[in-house]
Amino acid sequence: MIRAILFDLDGTLMDHRGAADRAAVAWASGLAPGHPRLEEVPALWRRLEETHITAWQAGECSFTEQRRRRVRGLCTELGLPGPTGTAGADASFAVFLDYYRQRWRIFPDVAETLTALTALGGLRLGVLTNGEAAVQAAKLARIGLADLLDPVLTADLLGGHFKPARACYLHAARLLGLEPGQVLVVGDDVAADVTGPRTAGMGSVWLDRDGAGHPGPPPPAPRISLLTQLPALLTGAPAAGGFPLVPLAPGGGPPPP
Ligand SMILES: [Mg+2]
Repeated sequence: MIRAILFDLDGTLMDHRGAADRAAVAWASGLAPGHPRLEEVPALWRRLEETHITAWQAGECSFTEQRRRRVRGLCTELGLPGPTGTAGADASFAVFLDYYRQRWRIFPDVAETLTALTALGGLRLGVLTNGEAAVQAAKLARIGLADLLDPVLTADLLGGHFKPARACYLHAARLLGLEPGQVLVVGDDVAADVTGPRTAGMGSVWLDRDGAGHPGPPPPAPRISLLTQLPALLTGAPAAGGFPLVPLAPGGGPPPP
């Protein structure tokens, strides 16, 4: 009885990884032209991103501070002098951010999928993302999805809870005015988008874009490699892994709580 779909943003609708990898190399090339470890920069930057964004999400530092830590961390890894003070770190991260923004791209299967889901009728299509609200809003605007997806749910709207905390999904369902079982989460991260939603009673679909699979037992959810495979799951039989679709009343909007 799915009445709303919440899409993850980074890695699901927008190619965050591709943008961040290329931006990090461009930025590091500017800091240290010809540095012998430039090829390693994407992996180094991913690790710093994971460590310090996790710290921000755990409330251990501010959003701005996690950015400064990443800048300093990369300089340390590359043996470069770090930026001077917080202003220097902020200025350095701003250079990365410019490169990153220039590389924001929508995945090529998104538009067709949203059109097909809209054609099914009555489904509310939104976003559930762990990113920072203003950054995520800017991404959606840039890739042309700001007017197509509503609501855009970030931790500041969800009691400060991030995926995969169960409370995050329960808050999201409440904001939609739906029972958790009426909401389907779709995304590329197994913990945040697949197993997490199920702890709250939501449905979930795993988008395994690169077909890399997942260590450990297979996630308890349908797996797709392209978003365009999603509409068929909504009209397919539950026994075949599909989700029965019950459109909203004409006129849209969630039912009364
Ligand atoms: Mg993701």
